Amino acid sequence: MQDEMSEALQNVISDCAFSGGPYVEKFESAFSDFCHTRHAIGLNSGTTALWAALKGLGVGSGDEVITVANSFIATAEAISMCGAVPVFVDVDPNTYTMDPGKVERAISKKTRAIIPVHLFGQMADMDPIMRIAKNHNILVVEDACQAHGATYRDKSAGSIGDAGCFSFYPGKNLGAYGEGGAVTTNNSELAEWLISFRNHGQVGKNKHSMIGTNARMDGIQAAFLDVKLKYLNTWNEQRRSIARDYHALLSEVPHIQLPTEAEYGRHVYHVYAIRHENPEGVRECLAAHGISTGIHYPVPIYLQDAYRFLNLREGSYPETERIAKSLLSLPIYPEMTKEQVRKVSDVVLHYCGQLA
Ligand SMILES: *Cc1c(COP(=O)(O)O)cnc(C)c1O
Repeated sequence: MQDEMSEALQNVISDCAFSGGPYVEKFESAFSDFCHTRHAIGLNSGTTALWAALKGLGVGSGDEVITVANSFIATAEAISMCGAVPVFVDVDPNTYTMDPGKVERAISKKTRAIIPVHLFGQMADMDPIMRIAKNHNILVVEDACQAHGATYRDKSAGSIGDAGCFSFYPGKNLGAYGEGGAVTTNNSELAEWLISFRNHGQVGKNKHSMIGTNARMDGIQAAFLDVKLKYLNTWNEQRRSIARDYHALLSEVPHIQLPTEAEYGRHVYHVYAIRHENPEGVRECLAAHGISTGIHYPVPIYLQDAYRFLNLREGSYPETERIAKSLLSLPIYPEMTKEQVRKVSDVVLHYCGQLA
């Protein structure tokens, strides 16, 4: 792949196609094929993708958007940047994604959209969410920033809602060598709007039909992503294989709960998160063995200072809070070897009192 990447870089430099342009268009076409949508619009980040998709679909000041609080803060920021207000619902205790049974109660006259988050590589339970949205004439924007290549009943992440939003931040399953994002959609009007919005509302030479911004995708990143996209299915399969190995090694270990894969889809394990009543303890033990871990996400969004104005206290969403206090993300990346998986598992096993 190194050679392909060097060649891609050289091509962009020779063509001086650094911002937008043919390499972005080529990647957009490949990515929309990958996601089975009519359009993919390249942008400068996943946060911009969420913000622009909502704005392009007409979400604005005074509106409410239903989402979950166990996500990266960007999901809520995108809503706020439109002038709308996030309304949280609790999550399913097994998949950690939006609990469809909680959505209806959160709908008000102001509700304009729902953002299910496909957390850790697993899609939210989309059928009931889409049904509720349809009944109430509400939009659905998928936060697919952690779910490139995940599926739900054979449909691709980003292809079910009115729009799907992706991030190509370096750590994602499809990561650039810098920043990037995209919106996928079958809505041609939205696609046109996004193409104009990302380029200062331009609709022709020196013609600006609206106040847009600069949210264009970088040509070098698009060329890199176009190369990497060809390997994404293989990398996702490698992640799934590592998850199976973890599962085999850890399934008998007491006091931990392993991630569950819902029957409805294909999990692409952006994150492999286990639950333990003392995640910090397991984390320190792994750190002492030179193994770094993550916690996604220890503070629900409504308990962040930035969202204190919502006046949501601790206890507001019990499942979300229980999850926040117990999750620990073990290392997972496509190149991880079986020995590495075994080493991590041995330490977890040891901590949980099985060995020695
Ligand atoms: C990464 C991520 C984002 C934001 O993407 P950026 O490209 O970093 O702006 C949004 N939502 C979720 C769930 C993410 O994981």
